[in-house]
Amino acid sequence: MFTKNKNNKAQTTTLDIYKIPRDQHSISRKDIDENALKVLYRLHNAGFRALLVGGGVRDLLLGLKPKDFDITTNATPEEVKALFRNCRLIGRRFRLAHILFGREVIEVATFRGHHDDKDAQDIQKVKQSQEGMLLRDNVYGSLEEDAERRDFTVNALYYDIADFSLYDFCGGMSDLAERKLTLIGDPEVRYREDPVRMMRAIRFAGKLDLTISDQCAEPIRRLAPLLQDIPAARHFDEVIKLLLSGQGLKTYRLLKEYKLLQMLFPILFKDGEDDNANAIIEQALIDSDARIAQGKRVTPAYIYAVMLWYPLEQRVHAISFESGMDDHDAFLLAMNEVLSIQVKTIAIPKRFTATIRDIWMLQLRLPRFGGKRAQRVYHHIKFRAAFDFLSLRAQIEQSSELAELTAWWQEYQEHNKLPEHNYSRNTSNKATEVKPEHKNPSKKRKYSSSKRKTKAINNND
Ligand code: ATP
Ligand code: MG
Repeated sequence: MFTKNKNNKAQTTTLDIYKIPRDQHSISRKDIDENALKVLYRLHNAGFRALLVGGGVRDLLLGLKPKDFDITTNATPEEVKALFRNCRLIGRRFRLAHILFGREVIEVATFRGHHDDKDAQDIQKVKQSQEGMLLRDNVYGSLEEDAERRDFTVNALYYDIADFSLYDFCGGMSDLAERKLTLIGDPEVRYREDPVRMMRAIRFAGKLDLTISDQCAEPIRRLAPLLQDIPAARHFDEVIKLLLSGQGLKTYRLLKEYKLLQMLFPILFKDGEDDNANAIIEQALIDSDARIAQGKRVTPAYIYAVMLWYPLEQRVHAISFESGMDDHDAFLLAMNEVLSIQVKTIAIPKRFTATIRDIWMLQLRLPRFGGKRAQRVYHHIKFRAAFDFLSLRAQIEQSSELAELTAWWQEYQEHNKLPEHNYSRNTSNKATEVKPEHKNPSKKRKYSSSKRKTKAINNND
């Protein structure tokens, strides 16, 4: 589509045909983050090209508040580093500069270029797997080339700090107007180069309410297994962006529809669709979308605990059936199995797997609140998450037993109000404890649905 030209400065005239002057678009400097502007100006004043690109430009054109501002330049990462004291170079696969302003990070990428045969020999710059996956992409190029290396047309719009114009090399403006998501180049090649682009397609479709063009949608189901080649650590970051950025429910449904969910969560729906599992995930995502809309925090651990609960329950049954182990031991073993399978595809950090285990283990303890047990459970640092989880199970399974138990704990909490910061406090809290009057529904309490006829757990707590 474009001529190859490594000399950025010599291209001004050919670039003009892609240029949209300031008076013909809606982006204004006042919409741009102050620190991003500082970076753009410092680069520009040092004689480099400096443009805003990606989600920052796309979201402003859609009238949304961007999550972050990405910058691109013809300065190399080392040249960027020399200009900013607060700069860190990161990434081997894709080398980038991060400029740090307190907790805010502005990402600066050098224009990417096409790989010629000479580059392909240099593994410091380019590395590709046999399946066509780019393991390293550090060939620098011109602005036009950079546009072609980006994923979707709507992500390849540039705002130039030099004269406040926009550049649209790939038809991103008309796709935005049609609310359409189109990959740049041949979809199959681009997905093979980086299979995460399939997940990004789902993410943007869900988050921005864009339609995935037919040509981009077609290969996804077929190429879904390529996600297995992606490092589990990268999946962890991507899954958070997919499920915990405010449109979790819609995104989950799309992931399922396009057969990507199964690649990420191999034990979920392994033996076909499970109504309870699907329903609990959907409800948890509805709740977390609502929390995000209210500016509240959500934890990935809770969503993972929800997603893996019914597969865990199935494993508990299978283990106790096969080995005759008691339910408590089978539960412990199944927890280890389920998590160790899951972390192979998504590297959930230890601090989150610890919370997932806590939430699950507390499901065994919540039904047993005789004597001092209630107080101990209530003071557990993850009590609140475990209680929310229990209410969710009661709702999904429509179990009167679980509903009764939820009501008991609800009342218990009302009588034993803790300070606002309660749920992260420890057992030294002296709040007086009042037990609800009605009878303890925990005798022979089951940890799972009455529908599923799960055996009572012998918890020695
Ligand atoms: P968000 O609003 O989630 O930040 P974004 O489009 O800005 O969305 P980033 O991950 O911040 O996404 O990436 C910034 C830009 O870098 C993208 O808009 C796109 O142009 C380019 N990009 C990111 N990941 C890829 C990829 N896997 N392949 C090609 N281009 C990519
Ligand atoms: Mg971004």
